[in-house]
Amino acid sequence: MVVERLIKWAALVGRVGLVAGMVAGLVTSLATLVIVGATFNAVQAGERQNSDAMINKAPVNHNLLKETQAVVLMYHHFGVEKHASTNIRLSQFDAHLDYLEKEGYEIWPLRKIVKYVEANRVFPARVVAITIDDAYKSVFTEAYPRLKKRGWPFTVFVASDGVDSHFPAYMSWPQMREMQDNGASFENHSASHDYLIRVMSGETEKQWQVRIRADILKAQRRIEEELGRSSTLFAYPYGEYNTALATLVAELGLRAFGQQSGPVGLGADTRSMPRFPMAERFAEMADFKQKVASLAFPVLAVQPWDPLLSAPVNPDAAPQMRLHLAKSSARLAQLSCFVSGQGRVDVKWLDRADRLFMLQAPQPLQGGRSRYNCTAPSTQPGRYYWFSHLWISN
Ligand SMILES: [Zn+2]
Repeated sequence: MVVERLIKWAALVGRVGLVAGMVAGLVTSLATLVIVGATFNAVQAGERQNSDAMINKAPVNHNLLKETQAVVLMYHHFGVEKHASTNIRLSQFDAHLDYLEKEGYEIWPLRKIVKYVEANRVFPARVVAITIDDAYKSVFTEAYPRLKKRGWPFTVFVASDGVDSHFPAYMSWPQMREMQDNGASFENHSASHDYLIRVMSGETEKQWQVRIRADILKAQRRIEEELGRSSTLFAYPYGEYNTALATLVAELGLRAFGQQSGPVGLGADTRSMPRFPMAERFAEMADFKQKVASLAFPVLAVQPWDPLLSAPVNPDAAPQMRLHLAKSSARLAQLSCFVSGQGRVDVKWLDRADRLFMLQAPQPLQGGRSRYNCTAPSTQPGRYYWFSHLWISN
């Protein structure tokens, strides 16, 4: 009798909880649509891709695991307002750090996250890494003191030529050595910080490979000489990569990050892991809270994988992206996708039961970098699945 009543009670509570969860989910899903849409409209100003598949090596059961992703944040300048597209205001950065601390986020070194991703090892709740590209001076003067005070690790991707040239905008090697003694790690961002995928006129594929390999190895050598530690990670300058570059970087033994947004899921393709860019426009708190709580869509395959839209592609049509998802707690009925500069775009389900869909922007993509971005609310109220794919057209 008592047991029966308990079961009935549990069922009732469960139903009430479900309805409450659905209402909460709907409210936050509307809010997120606004945020994602706004982010997307802003993204086109700063950003700009062709071809093959593939991704998860080992299948992950996303229903069983507690946390199957971690969030990697990307910063550049701190309190340098003349670089609005890559700067974060100090008040915004302080608010980010305060929020992460107050909400109990664990700040991990980036290498540890990559190890877990490769080992398909479940994360504890709320893991975030802080990364900073280019080694600008304000990293030393503004970000470092704040992070050191909290005892938080962080990773700086260094383009070594800028530092070696003693350009006033950059930190010095002695400053970086001091930071390394206090929680910072330094990783490879190439020596030249060029648009690495670009082939020079008259250059053969082989010559391009030789040139780019030398550039990346130069940064590798300089970081090792100055800091006594070799890099194992790489960040693509401007977030730009294609299959050829990704292959080259992987052959050098480096795990790579792009600048396409989204959390890093277990089993992610380590040729181009996502990060959330944190510049002024995308760094307001409502936006920040959604991003650090985001969930990685369990991507089985994305096609084309290569972001570079090169001949023979139709210049009058945007790329068709096919995305195949594993089972998850994403509410796919509420899947919404956005295209830089074109707003929300409907997806075409190719196999709804198998979670396979196609997305194509109605208009051709603008020149340079563009993104396809998809989100869906999860059954956990207030949390969203997030996936972004880069396209580069010349
Ligand atoms: Zn950079």
